[in-house]
Amino acid sequence: MNSAYHRPVPYGSELANATSRQLQGTSPALIIPVGSTEQHGPHLPLDTDTRIATAVARALADQLVPANESKWMVAPAIEYGASGEHEEFSGTVSIGTSALRLLLVEFGRSASRWASRLVFVNGHGGNVEALATAAALLRYEGRDVGWCSCSAENADAHAGHTETSVLLHISPADVWIDERVPGNSAPLGQLMPAMRQGGMAAVSDVGILGDPTTATAEEGARIFAEMVDGCLRRVTRWTPDRNGMLT
Ligand SMILES: [Zn+2]
Repeated sequence: MNSAYHRPVPYGSELANATSRQLQGTSPALIIPVGSTEQHGPHLPLDTDTRIATAVARALADQLVPANESKWMVAPAIEYGASGEHEEFSGTVSIGTSALRLLLVEFGRSASRWASRLVFVNGHGGNVEALATAAALLRYEGRDVGWCSCSAENADAHAGHTETSVLLHISPADVWIDERVPGNSAPLGQLMPAMRQGGMAAVSDVGILGDPTTATAEEGARIFAEMVDGCLRRVTRWTPDRNGMLT
């Protein structure tokens, strides 16, 4: 019987590893990675967005100074998102915007019973509408909720230079490096009308927007640090807009 179930790197601030008694009376602030399970070209794993969001969330928790004694902890990731535009490709599982919104709202209501503050760290652009509307409602209800995205300057859109570089930095063993091919590098705004009609398959038959062949681990380290710094600045400043997006 193979009963092995372990995390290769034990992580100190993981909610899942804590016991309820350890949390009693502590009111931790919670960081929740929000990802997706969707195709990322022939060379990246389906959980690429979840991996990036989780790695950024952990780096954030390590760097955030506890506010009013309350510790920052990383919750288990939400691993499904709104990925309808990728459903032409095997492996994609999308729960759609309205289900994700409801999930986030109920998550927020429940976790806010004992957590002092919630920040969703988002790894997938398609989740933004659900995050914005869920966070707006949670804030209206008086809960201290914000969110930020794992973003970088000049990032390409999907499974290209940006995401491939970051995966080469955080998960090199899971990148199929020889399978990389250039995708569609036209500006996203130009591709959107066709994508709204026919999804990703209408603009790239390999499921890539951008060029993963230029990706390197060094670039990944730089981009990853930029993502972490951006979120760290926003979380530290804590000035959510009316949709809960940290500015
Ligand atoms: Zn992605």
